[in-house]
Amino acid sequence: MRILIEKADCLIYEDNDFNFKNSDVCIDGDLIVSVGKIPESFSAEGVIDGRGKLLIPGLINAHTHAYMTIFRNSADDLMFNDWLFGRILPMEDKLEDGDSYWGTMLGICEMIRTGTTCYLDMYIKGDENARAVCESGIRAVLSRGLVGKGNDKDGAMRLREAVDEISRWNGKGNGRLSFMLAPHAPYTCDPDYIKIVMQSAKELGIGINTHLSEGRVEIKEIYEKYGCSPIKLIEKTGMFSLKTVAAHCVHLSDEDIEILAENKVSVATNPVSNLKLANGVAPVPKLLKAGVNVCLGTDGAASNNTLNLFRELSMLTLIHKGVNEDSQAVSAKEGIKIATVNGAAALGLDGIGQIKVGMKADLALIDLNAVNMVPNNNPVAALAYSANGSEVQTVIVNGEILMENRELKGIDEERIRYEVAGIAKRIGA
Ligand SMILES: [Zn+2]
Repeated sequence: MRILIEKADCLIYEDNDFNFKNSDVCIDGDLIVSVGKIPESFSAEGVIDGRGKLLIPGLINAHTHAYMTIFRNSADDLMFNDWLFGRILPMEDKLEDGDSYWGTMLGICEMIRTGTTCYLDMYIKGDENARAVCESGIRAVLSRGLVGKGNDKDGAMRLREAVDEISRWNGKGNGRLSFMLAPHAPYTCDPDYIKIVMQSAKELGIGINTHLSEGRVEIKEIYEKYGCSPIKLIEKTGMFSLKTVAAHCVHLSDEDIEILAENKVSVATNPVSNLKLANGVAPVPKLLKAGVNVCLGTDGAASNNTLNLFRELSMLTLIHKGVNEDSQAVSAKEGIKIATVNGAAALGLDGIGQIKVGMKADLALIDLNAVNMVPNNNPVAALAYSANGSEVQTVIVNGEILMENRELKGIDEERIRYEVAGIAKRIGA
């Protein structure tokens, strides 16, 4: 479809900086074909009025477990190990076929409603998440969570399932769907298993999504077992030679930071989840200074408890100021770059994350007349410090309108709410 977005204030990324330009934006098929002057040959089939609105590249959630919306507000005020082993895993064991689809659909609704157009997911049940991505219209990089020791039977089976799923779904949804492999964490996968997973990732030519250095218990356990930090351990396996997104990275030595920078590992920081599970605060300013590509994630709704990247952006740009007593620690501009440009780089999707001719039309239109956004003194500051996600009015992914004036298109939100509430009740969430 050919869409014209008229006279919106567009957030343009140029020369490592953000600027605003009041422009017409033309979309043809899945691509942005002009920003500024409307090409003479362009005839729009649909027109969106952008006056009084801010057009931003859709936000990129670089770490989540979308199906976990099922567990929202059911495991709170617990320390990490009690949360995971005492509460989440027993509930997960009760999930049945089809549950993950509904939980993922609910997560997708929440992400679209709050301006997220692409996410990197880790989950336990294949096919259902891919189906949700294809049906909803959102863009995603999917990765089935893998747990294993050496060449044990269960670990091998999970990897085989993941590889089979990739062969069925990669590139589906008009190219919106791609994959990584996801060895869950160094405390659930031993180095030999990680090497087996790496081999498959190499053969498939895809990257790795994992959790690293999230909490102190993990750090202690890995030190006791292997005599080094989780980052050092994973470096020794050779995994960082593959494109890697490492979620959390909260507890890092200076040497760990050097290793991440040297190996061009992307770090997905999840400030709200880290706070809620009392894991601490990641050294994001130090990572940025070292040149690490930091991107932003919400983690699952079981530890956040929303998938709203605006809330995450606010936390990201506030917490490091307070902790470091430095008002420049992570600026609003840096935060927005982390949630867009850096997210695209982390996921290896160089066609998204910016409003630019030739990029995919993954966009969110934000109401500048919302009371909390007025007056429009500084839109960058407004995005980081004033917005809460409810100002997102219209969302486009791959040139398709997924939400218009806050109404989701082609998604039966009422049915999704009903199904997820039923699942939560059944598993005792
Ligand atoms: Zn996670």
